[in-house]
Amino acid sequence: MKTRTRLGVLGWPVRHSRSPAMHNAALRFRGLTAWRYQLLPVAPELFEETVPALPQAGFRGANVTIPHKEHALELADTATKRARAIGAANTLLFDDAGQIHADNTDAPAIVALLPFAPAGRTALVLGAGGSARAAVWALLDGGASDVMVWNRTAERARALCAELGGRAVEVAEQADLLVHCTSSGLDGSERMFDQLPLGVDALRRYACVVDLVYGDGRTPLTRAARARSLPVIDGLELLVAQGALAFELFTGVPAPVDVMRLAVGVAQDRACARV
Ligand code: NDP
Repeated sequence: MKTRTRLGVLGWPVRHSRSPAMHNAALRFRGLTAWRYQLLPVAPELFEETVPALPQAGFRGANVTIPHKEHALELADTATKRARAIGAANTLLFDDAGQIHADNTDAPAIVALLPFAPAGRTALVLGAGGSARAAVWALLDGGASDVMVWNRTAERARALCAELGGRAVEVAEQADLLVHCTSSGLDGSERMFDQLPLGVDALRRYACVVDLVYGDGRTPLTRAARARSLPVIDGLELLVAQGALAFELFTGVPAPVDVMRLAVGVAQDRACARV
Protein backbone atom coordinates (compact mmCIF):
# COMPACT_ATOMS: atom_id res chain seq x y z
CA MET A 1 0.00 0.00 0.00
CA LYS A 2 1.38 3.46 -0.90
CA THR A 3 2.20 5.98 1.82
CA ARG A 4 -1.02 7.16 3.32
CA THR A 5 -1.05 10.84 4.26
CA ARG A 6 -4.73 11.74 3.94
CA LEU A 7 -6.98 12.59 6.89
CA GLY A 8 -10.53 13.86 7.14
CA VAL A 9 -13.67 14.36 9.17
CA LEU A 10 -16.66 12.11 8.50
CA GLY A 11 -20.03 13.73 9.13
CA TRP A 12 -23.43 14.55 7.64
CA PRO A 13 -23.69 17.48 7.33
CA VAL A 14 -20.08 18.44 7.94
CA ARG A 15 -19.46 21.55 5.84
CA HIS A 16 -19.31 23.84 8.89
CA SER A 17 -16.61 21.78 10.63
CA ARG A 18 -13.50 23.70 11.66
CA SER A 19 -11.43 20.50 11.83
CA PRO A 20 -9.86 20.88 8.33
CA ALA A 21 -8.59 24.41 9.10
CA MET A 22 -7.32 23.27 12.49
CA HIS A 23 -5.55 20.09 11.32
CA ASN A 24 -4.13 21.57 8.11
CA ALA A 25 -2.61 24.44 10.11
CA ALA A 26 -1.06 21.87 12.47
CA LEU A 27 0.24 19.71 9.58
CA ARG A 28 1.84 22.76 7.91
CA PHE A 29 3.38 23.91 11.19
CA ARG A 30 4.94 20.49 11.76
CA GLY A 31 6.32 20.39 8.18
CA LEU A 32 4.10 17.46 7.18
CA THR A 33 3.72 18.93 3.70
CA ALA A 34 2.49 15.76 1.98
CA TRP A 35 -0.42 15.42 4.43
CA ARG A 36 -3.92 16.79 3.81
CA TYR A 37 -7.04 16.90 6.00
CA GLN A 38 -10.40 17.30 4.27
CA LEU A 39 -14.13 17.24 4.79
CA LEU A 40 -15.67 13.81 4.23
CA PRO A 41 -19.42 14.36 3.83
CA VAL A 42 -20.89 10.85 3.96
CA ALA A 43 -24.62 10.12 4.27
CA PRO A 44 -25.54 7.55 6.95
CA GLU A 45 -26.66 4.95 4.39
CA LEU A 46 -23.23 5.12 2.67
CA PHE A 47 -21.08 5.11 5.82
CA GLU A 48 -20.58 1.35 6.03
CA GLU A 49 -19.33 0.98 2.46
CA THR A 50 -17.32 4.23 2.37
CA VAL A 51 -15.20 3.95 5.52
CA PRO A 52 -13.48 0.59 4.70
CA ALA A 53 -12.46 2.07 1.33
CA LEU A 54 -10.59 4.99 2.90
CA PRO A 55 -7.25 3.21 3.63
CA GLN A 56 -6.93 2.15 -0.03
CA ALA A 57 -7.63 5.75 -1.03
CA GLY A 58 -4.60 6.91 0.99
CA PHE A 59 -6.27 7.78 4.30
CA ARG A 60 -4.35 7.27 7.54
CA GLY A 61 -7.21 8.27 9.79
CA ALA A 62 -10.42 10.18 10.24
CA ASN A 63 -12.35 12.08 12.84
CA VAL A 64 -16.01 11.25 13.19
CA THR A 65 -18.83 13.60 14.05
CA ILE A 66 -22.65 13.65 14.06
CA PRO A 67 -24.36 11.31 13.23
CA HIS A 68 -21.72 8.61 12.74
CA LYS A 69 -19.95 8.17 16.10
CA GLU A 70 -21.79 5.04 17.20
CA HIS A 71 -21.70 3.49 13.74
CA ALA A 72 -17.94 4.18 13.56
CA LEU A 73 -17.39 2.12 16.69
CA GLU A 74 -19.49 -0.77 15.34
CA LEU A 75 -17.51 -0.78 12.12
CA ALA A 76 -14.08 -0.86 13.78
CA ASP A 77 -12.00 -4.03 14.02
CA THR A 78 -10.55 -2.95 17.36
CA ALA A 79 -11.42 -0.20 19.84
CA THR A 80 -9.95 1.27 22.99
CA LYS A 81 -11.54 0.42 26.32
CA ARG A 82 -12.91 3.95 26.65
CA ALA A 83 -14.47 4.00 23.17
CA ARG A 84 -16.18 0.66 23.92
CA ALA A 85 -17.41 1.85 27.32
CA ILE A 86 -18.70 5.15 25.90
CA GLY A 87 -20.26 3.36 22.93
CA ALA A 88 -19.00 5.89 20.40
CA ALA A 89 -15.81 6.68 18.46
CA ASN A 90 -14.68 10.12 17.30
CA THR A 91 -11.31 8.99 15.91
CA LEU A 92 -10.55 6.16 13.47
CA LEU A 93 -7.07 4.96 12.55
CA PHE A 94 -6.43 2.80 9.49
CA ASP A 95 -3.44 0.43 9.48
CA ASP A 96 -1.49 -0.91 6.49
CA ALA A 97 -3.67 -4.03 6.36
CA GLY A 98 -6.79 -1.87 6.07
CA GLN A 99 -7.91 -2.64 9.62
CA ILE A 100 -9.89 0.04 11.45
CA HIS A 101 -9.02 1.05 15.03
CA ALA A 102 -11.42 3.25 17.01
CA ASP A 103 -10.84 5.65 19.89
CA ASN A 104 -12.73 8.41 21.66
CA THR A 105 -10.67 11.54 22.36
CA ASP A 106 -13.66 13.61 23.58
CA ALA A 107 -13.46 11.93 27.00
CA PRO A 108 -9.79 12.62 27.84
CA ALA A 109 -10.08 16.11 26.30
CA ILE A 110 -12.90 17.08 28.67
CA VAL A 111 -10.89 15.97 31.71
CA ALA A 112 -7.65 17.56 30.50
CA LEU A 113 -9.34 20.97 30.22
CA LEU A 114 -10.90 21.02 33.68
CA PRO A 115 -9.46 23.58 36.10
CA PHE A 116 -9.37 20.83 38.77
CA ALA A 117 -8.96 17.06 38.69
CA PRO A 118 -12.35 15.28 38.84
CA ALA A 119 -11.38 12.96 41.74
CA GLY A 120 -13.73 13.53 44.65
CA ARG A 121 -15.66 16.26 42.79
CA THR A 122 -19.32 16.42 41.87
CA ALA A 123 -20.75 17.17 38.43
CA LEU A 124 -24.08 17.82 36.75
CA VAL A 125 -24.11 16.68 33.11
CA LEU A 126 -26.91 18.06 30.93
CA GLY A 127 -27.81 15.71 28.06
CA ALA A 128 -27.74 11.97 27.45
CA GLY A 129 -26.43 11.72 23.88
CA GLY A 130 -23.01 10.64 22.63
CA SER A 131 -21.04 13.52 24.10
CA ALA A 132 -22.81 13.23 27.47
CA ARG A 133 -21.82 9.56 27.55
CA ALA A 134 -18.18 10.59 26.98
CA ALA A 135 -18.39 13.22 29.74
CA VAL A 136 -20.02 10.89 32.28
CA TRP A 137 -17.57 8.09 31.54
CA ALA A 138 -14.57 10.43 31.75
CA LEU A 139 -15.65 12.02 35.04
CA LEU A 140 -16.40 8.69 36.71
CA ASP A 141 -13.17 7.21 35.36
CA GLY A 142 -11.37 10.21 36.84
CA GLY A 143 -12.83 9.44 40.27
CA ALA A 144 -15.70 11.95 40.50
CA SER A 145 -17.71 11.25 43.65
CA ASP A 146 -21.15 12.06 42.21
CA VAL A 147 -22.07 12.52 38.54
CA MET A 148 -25.69 13.62 38.04
CA VAL A 149 -27.31 13.40 34.63
CA TRP A 150 -30.29 15.49 33.53
CA ASN A 151 -31.86 15.05 30.11
CA ARG A 152 -34.94 16.47 28.34
CA THR A 153 -36.07 12.86 27.82
CA ALA A 154 -35.63 11.60 31.38
CA GLU A 155 -35.73 7.94 30.38
CA ARG A 156 -32.51 8.36 28.37
CA ALA A 157 -30.73 9.80 31.41
CA ARG A 158 -31.86 6.81 33.48
CA ALA A 159 -30.69 4.38 30.79
CA LEU A 160 -27.30 6.11 30.53
CA CYS A 161 -26.78 5.94 34.29
CA ALA A 162 -27.86 2.31 34.44
CA GLU A 163 -25.16 1.53 31.88
CA LEU A 164 -22.28 3.85 32.79
CA GLY A 165 -22.94 4.82 36.40
CA GLY A 166 -23.96 8.24 37.63
CA ARG A 167 -27.31 9.34 39.01
CA ALA A 168 -30.25 10.52 36.90
CA VAL A 169 -31.83 13.72 38.23
CA GLU A 170 -34.93 15.69 37.25
CA VAL A 171 -33.83 19.07 38.64
CA ALA A 172 -30.49 20.88 38.44
CA GLU A 173 -28.76 20.14 41.74
CA GLN A 174 -25.68 22.03 42.94
CA ALA A 175 -22.30 20.58 41.89
CA ASP A 176 -18.65 21.54 41.43
CA LEU A 177 -18.96 21.24 37.67
CA LEU A 178 -21.71 21.94 35.14
CA VAL A 179 -21.16 20.14 31.82
CA HIS A 180 -23.55 21.08 29.03
CA CYS A 181 -23.87 18.31 26.41
CA THR A 182 -27.23 19.01 24.72
CA SER A 183 -27.53 20.47 21.22
CA SER A 184 -29.30 23.50 22.65
CA GLY A 185 -27.61 26.90 22.17
CA LEU A 186 -26.12 26.25 18.74
CA ASP A 187 -28.09 29.16 17.28
CA GLY A 188 -26.94 31.54 20.04
CA SER A 189 -30.55 32.26 21.03
CA GLU A 190 -31.36 33.19 24.64
CA ARG A 191 -34.13 30.56 24.42
CA MET A 192 -31.39 28.11 25.40
CA PHE A 193 -32.20 28.61 29.06
CA ASP A 194 -35.86 27.70 28.46
CA GLN A 195 -34.63 24.31 27.26
CA LEU A 196 -32.37 23.62 30.26
CA PRO A 197 -33.30 22.89 33.89
CA LEU A 198 -31.61 26.02 35.27
CA GLY A 199 -31.62 29.78 34.75
CA VAL A 200 -28.69 32.18 34.60
CA ASP A 201 -28.84 33.00 38.31
CA ALA A 202 -28.39 29.32 39.23
CA LEU A 203 -24.98 29.27 37.52
CA ARG A 204 -23.30 30.54 40.68
CA ARG A 205 -23.94 27.11 42.22
CA TYR A 206 -21.17 25.65 40.00
CA ALA A 207 -17.43 26.26 40.31
CA CYS A 208 -16.78 25.74 36.61
CA VAL A 209 -18.93 25.55 33.47
CA VAL A 210 -18.10 23.36 30.47
CA ASP A 211 -20.15 23.94 27.32
CA LEU A 212 -19.53 21.47 24.50
CA VAL A 213 -21.58 23.47 22.00
CA TYR A 214 -19.81 25.86 19.68
CA GLY A 215 -21.23 28.03 16.95
CA ASP A 216 -20.16 31.27 15.37
CA GLY A 217 -20.26 33.17 18.61
CA ARG A 218 -20.37 32.41 22.30
CA THR A 219 -23.40 30.46 23.50
CA PRO A 220 -25.83 32.12 25.95
CA LEU A 221 -24.53 29.68 28.59
CA THR A 222 -20.87 30.65 28.19
CA ARG A 223 -21.80 34.36 27.97
CA ALA A 224 -23.81 34.16 31.20
CA ALA A 225 -21.14 32.14 33.02
CA ARG A 226 -18.38 34.54 31.99
CA ALA A 227 -20.50 37.51 33.04
CA ARG A 228 -20.56 35.91 36.53
CA SER A 229 -16.75 35.47 36.44
CA LEU A 230 -16.99 31.69 36.47
CA PRO A 231 -14.21 29.62 34.88
CA VAL A 232 -15.57 28.50 31.49
CA ILE A 233 -14.42 25.84 29.04
CA ASP A 234 -16.18 26.35 25.75
CA GLY A 235 -16.81 24.10 22.76
CA LEU A 236 -13.95 25.52 20.72
CA GLU A 237 -11.45 24.71 23.47
CA LEU A 238 -12.80 21.17 23.51
CA LEU A 239 -12.66 20.95 19.72
CA VAL A 240 -8.96 21.81 19.90
CA ALA A 241 -8.22 19.47 22.80
CA GLN A 242 -9.89 16.43 21.23
CA GLY A 243 -8.36 17.36 17.86
CA ALA A 244 -4.86 17.64 19.35
CA LEU A 245 -5.12 14.12 20.79
CA ALA A 246 -6.37 12.82 17.42
CA PHE A 247 -3.54 14.64 15.56
CA GLU A 248 -0.97 12.83 17.69
CA LEU A 249 -2.65 9.46 17.04
CA PHE A 250 -2.73 10.16 13.27
CA THR A 251 0.83 11.46 12.85
CA GLY A 252 2.84 10.34 15.88
CA VAL A 253 3.99 13.96 16.21
CA PRO A 254 3.18 16.34 19.11
CA ALA A 255 0.23 18.58 18.30
CA PRO A 256 1.00 22.32 18.04
CA VAL A 257 -1.92 23.27 20.27
CA ASP A 258 -1.47 27.06 20.05
CA VAL A 259 -1.45 26.86 16.23
CA MET A 260 -4.65 24.79 16.34
CA ARG A 261 -6.32 27.21 18.75
CA LEU A 262 -5.48 30.13 16.50
CA ALA A 263 -6.80 28.28 13.43
CA VAL A 264 -10.25 27.76 14.98
CA GLY A 265 -10.42 31.25 16.45
CA VAL A 266 -9.98 30.58 20.18
CA ALA A 267 -9.10 33.92 21.75
CA GLN A 268 -6.01 33.79 23.94
CA ASP A 269 -8.01 34.93 26.99
CA ARG A 270 -10.43 32.01 26.74
CA ALA A 271 -8.26 29.22 28.08
CA CYS A 272 -9.16 27.79 31.48
CA ALA A 273 -5.95 26.30 32.81
CA ARG A 274 -5.80 23.53 35.41
CA VAL A 275 -4.77 24.89 38.79
P1 NDP B 1 -26.65 13.77 20.39
O1 NDP B 1 -27.51 13.99 19.21
O2 NDP B 1 -26.09 12.43 20.67
O3 NDP B 1 -27.47 14.21 21.73
C1 NDP B 1 -28.21 15.40 21.74
C2 NDP B 1 -28.63 15.73 23.17
O4 NDP B 1 -29.21 17.03 23.16
C3 NDP B 1 -29.68 14.78 23.75
O5 NDP B 1 -29.47 14.67 25.14
C4 NDP B 1 -30.99 15.55 23.47
O6 NDP B 1 -32.02 15.26 24.38
C5 NDP B 1 -30.53 16.97 23.71
N1 NDP B 1 -31.33 17.98 23.04
C6 NDP B 1 -31.47 18.15 21.71
N2 NDP B 1 -32.23 19.23 21.45
C7 NDP B 1 -32.60 19.73 22.68
C8 NDP B 1 -33.41 20.81 23.09
N3 NDP B 1 -33.99 21.62 22.20
N4 NDP B 1 -33.55 21.03 24.40
C9 NDP B 1 -32.97 20.24 25.32
N5 NDP B 1 -32.19 19.18 24.99
C10 NDP B 1 -32.02 18.93 23.67
O7 NDP B 1 -25.49 14.88 20.28
P2 NDP B 1 -24.01 14.86 20.91
O8 NDP B 1 -24.08 14.43 22.32
O9 NDP B 1 -23.07 14.14 20.02
O10 NDP B 1 -23.64 16.42 20.81
C11 NDP B 1 -24.28 17.38 21.62
C12 NDP B 1 -23.65 18.75 21.34
O11 NDP B 1 -22.27 18.74 21.71
C13 NDP B 1 -23.70 19.13 19.86
O12 NDP B 1 -24.00 20.51 19.75
C14 NDP B 1 -22.29 18.84 19.38
O13 NDP B 1 -21.92 19.67 18.29
C15 NDP B 1 -21.48 19.20 20.62
N6 NDP B 1 -20.17 18.53 20.65
C16 NDP B 1 -19.05 19.31 20.63
C17 NDP B 1 -17.80 18.74 20.65
C18 NDP B 1 -16.62 19.64 20.63
O14 NDP B 1 -15.52 19.20 20.25
N7 NDP B 1 -16.76 20.89 21.02
C19 NDP B 1 -17.60 17.28 20.72
C20 NDP B 1 -18.85 16.54 20.76
C21 NDP B 1 -20.07 17.16 20.71
P3 NDP B 1 -33.15 14.14 24.05
O15 NDP B 1 -32.56 12.83 24.49
O16 NDP B 1 -34.30 14.57 24.89
O17 NDP B 1 -33.43 14.21 22.58
